[in-house]
Amino acid sequence: PPLNSPAMRKSKRITAVILTVAVLLAVTGVALFVFVPAQMEGRLEEDLSFRARSTADYLAANARVGLAGSRSTTLRDAAELARLEPDLAYAVVVNERGKVVATAFPNVDLNVDWESQVSGVSSPEIVDARATVVVNDWLAGTIYVGLSRDAQQASLKQDRMLVAGFAGFMVLLALASAAGAVQMKRLRNTAEEWQQRHMSVRRQAGDLYSSVREHRQTQRSLQASESKYKSLFENTMASAMADLEELNRHLEKRKADLEHEVGVRKKAEVSLRRYTERLQLLNAVERSLLEGKSVEESAELALSMGMKLLPAARMTLVESDTRTGEAWIVGQTATYKVHRKIGDTIPFAEVQTHAKVRSCADLAAEDEASAVEKAMLREGLLSYVDVPLVVRDEVVGVLTVASSLAEAFSEEHFNIARDIADLMAIGVHRSRLDTERELYEQELVLARDRAEDMARLKTAFLTNMSHEIRTPISGIMGFSQVLHDEVPDGLREFTGLIRESAHRLLNTINSVLELARIESGRDGLEVTRMDLGELVKEATERLEPLAKRKSLSFTFENKAPGALCDLDRACVDRIVTNLVDNAIKFTDGGAVRAQVTTRGQVATLEVNDTGVGIDPGFLPHLFDDFRQEQMEANREHEGSGLGLTVSKKLVDRLGGTIRITSEKGVGTSVFVDFPLAGATVEDAEAARQAVDRGAVPRQQEARSGAGQRTSA
Ligand code: ADP
Repeated sequence: PPLNSPAMRKSKRITAVILTVAVLLAVTGVALFVFVPAQMEGRLEEDLSFRARSTADYLAANARVGLAGSRSTTLRDAAELARLEPDLAYAVVVNERGKVVATAFPNVDLNVDWESQVSGVSSPEIVDARATVVVNDWLAGTIYVGLSRDAQQASLKQDRMLVAGFAGFMVLLALASAAGAVQMKRLRNTAEEWQQRHMSVRRQAGDLYSSVREHRQTQRSLQASESKYKSLFENTMASAMADLEELNRHLEKRKADLEHEVGVRKKAEVSLRRYTERLQLLNAVERSLLEGKSVEESAELALSMGMKLLPAARMTLVESDTRTGEAWIVGQTATYKVHRKIGDTIPFAEVQTHAKVRSCADLAAEDEASAVEKAMLREGLLSYVDVPLVVRDEVVGVLTVASSLAEAFSEEHFNIARDIADLMAIGVHRSRLDTERELYEQELVLARDRAEDMARLKTAFLTNMSHEIRTPISGIMGFSQVLHDEVPDGLREFTGLIRESAHRLLNTINSVLELARIESGRDGLEVTRMDLGELVKEATERLEPLAKRKSLSFTFENKAPGALCDLDRACVDRIVTNLVDNAIKFTDGGAVRAQVTTRGQVATLEVNDTGVGIDPGFLPHLFDDFRQEQMEANREHEGSGLGLTVSKKLVDRLGGTIRITSEKGVGTSVFVDFPLAGATVEDAEAARQAVDRGAVPRQQEARSGAGQRTSA
C-alpha cells in the first residue's frame, strides 16, 4: 500500500495503543510486585494478633463463667480448650500469684512463676496475647496465649509467589507488546523501502520499455538496410573479383618488372660501393696532402690505394721538371721489379712530356714497341696506362699503371688512374709552391733586415750631415747679410741671391732634421689644452705676406672659436706652415683660404687653394719622403718633398688624421681633424666617418665625384 494509505495510518495508531498498553502493564506489574505482598503481610499480622487476642479473651470468658459456677478446675480446662486453635504456639494459665496452673505445652513447669519461663517459650515468630479472668472484681488469674506465625508465613509465601508470577506475566506481556510494536515499525520501514524500490523499478521498466521500442525500430531499419547492402555487396563483390583478377595480372607483370629493376639496382649498388670506396681512398690521399705530408709520403699512400682499386701488377709515379730536364721516381709499388729506388733520377727521354694519356692494351701484339715498352714486356707486363700529372698545362710528372694481363683496363680504371694522377699533381704543385714560398720568405726577412739597417743608417747620416751643413750655412747667411750691406748697388742682386739660396738651404735642412728627429722618436711633445682656431690664426698671420707677394687673396676664418684640443704649439705651427706654404707655392692666381670648423667630436683645419692641383696618380705617394709630383731637374716649384711627410707624422702624433682632395687644374683641399678635448680617439674617428661618407682607407685613392680623387 502507498505510505499515506488508511491502512498504514491505522497500523501506526495500533502501534501507539499497543505501546501505551505495554507501558501500563509494565507499571502495574511492577506496582503489584512492590505493594501487594507488603499489604498482605500487614493484614495477616493484624489478623493473627486479633485472633490471639480473641482466643485469650474467649478462654478468659469461658474460665470466668466456670469460676462463677464455683468450679475451681476451670482455669486448667481453659488450657485444654486452647488446643482447639490450630496455630497455637503456647497457652499458659497463671493464677493470681503468678504461678503456672495449666499449660497447653508440657515444657512449661507448673506452679512456677510464668515470668521466669516466658522468655523460654515466646519468640519473635510468635504473636502474644493476654486476657485476665476477673470474677466479681477478683482477679482469679491470667491466660497467656501465643500464636505461631509459621502457617501464615507459608500461606503468605504462596500468595506472594502468585502475585510475583502475575506481575512477571504482565511485564512479559508488556515486553512482548513493545517488541510487537517495534516489529511493526520495522515492517513499515521495510514496506517504505520496498515501495521506493518498486517505484524505481517501475521507472526503469518504463525506460526499458521505450528503449526496447527504439531497439525494435532500429532492428527493423537495420534489417531493411541489411538486405539493401547485401545486394550491393554481392554486386560489388562481383565487380571487385573482376578487378582483383585484373590487378593480379597487373601485379604479375609488375613483379617481373621489379625483379628486373632489382637486378639493375644490385648492379648499380655494386658500382656505387666501388665508387664510394674509390672516393674514400682518394679522400685519404687528399687528407694526407692537406696535412702537408711530403710528395713521397702521399705517393706511397696513393699507389697502395691504387693497387686496391685497379687490376695492376705494379704502379710507378715519376716527377719531372721540364725546365731543368730532370725526372726522378717519387713512388713505386713493392712489386716493381726494376731495381730503382725512390729518389733515383731516370732519363728524361723515358718520361712523357705531353698532357695526353698513353696506353697499350696488348704489348705482345705491338709491332713498334718503344724501348720502355720492350722492357715492360720483358718484365712480364702486357698492358699499361701512362697518365700525366698536369698543372696549368705543364706536365709535372707521370703515373704508370701496368698489368700482367692484356686489355686489363676499362674506362672506369682509366678514370681512377686519372683521379689519382690529378690528386698527385696537386700535391706536387703544392710542394713546389711551399718550397718557393720558403725561399721567398727567407728573401723577405733578409730584405727587411737590410731596410731596417738602411733606415738606421739614414737617420744617423741625416742627423750628422744636417748638423754639418747647418753650421756653415749660418756663417754664409750672416756674412751674406754683411756683404749685402757693404757691396755697391750693382752687386746687391748677387748678394741677395746668396742670402735667398742660403735661406732655402736652411729650410730644407730644417725639414730634414725635423723628420729625422720625429723618426728617431727623440722630439718631446708638450701637449696642453689649446684653442685650435687661435693657434692657426697666429701661424697664418705670419704667412700672409708670402701670399701678398704672389698677389693671391688670402683669408682665414675661425668658425669654431673656443674649440679646445690637446695640442703641441710647435707641432701645430709647423703643420699650418707646411700646408699654407704648399697652397701658396702651388697657386699662381686666385685664392688661398684657411678655416677652422667643428663637426661632432672633431675640430677640423681646412686649407683650400685654387692652384695647379695634384695628378690622381700621385695622390697615393703624397706622404712619401722626398716625393714630389715633379721630380725632374727643371721642375717649376722648389721644395724638398718632406713637408707633407713631416705634417702627417706630426698629425699622427697628436692623434689626428689628414686627408687631401684635389683636382688637376682646379685646386687642392687639405683637411686635418683633431679630436676635441675630452673625446676619445675612437669617438672622434666614429664622428668623422659618420659625417664624411666619402672617407677612404689611408694611403689609397678613390673616386668620390666626377673627375675628383681623394687620398687619406
Ligand atoms: P714640397 O712641397 O716640399 O715639395 P711636400 O711634401 O709638401 O713637399 O709636397 C709633396 C708634393 O705634393 C709637392 O711637391 C707637390 O707636388 C704636391 N703638393 C703638395 N701640396 C700641394 C698643393 N697644395 N697643390 C698642388 N700640389 C701639392
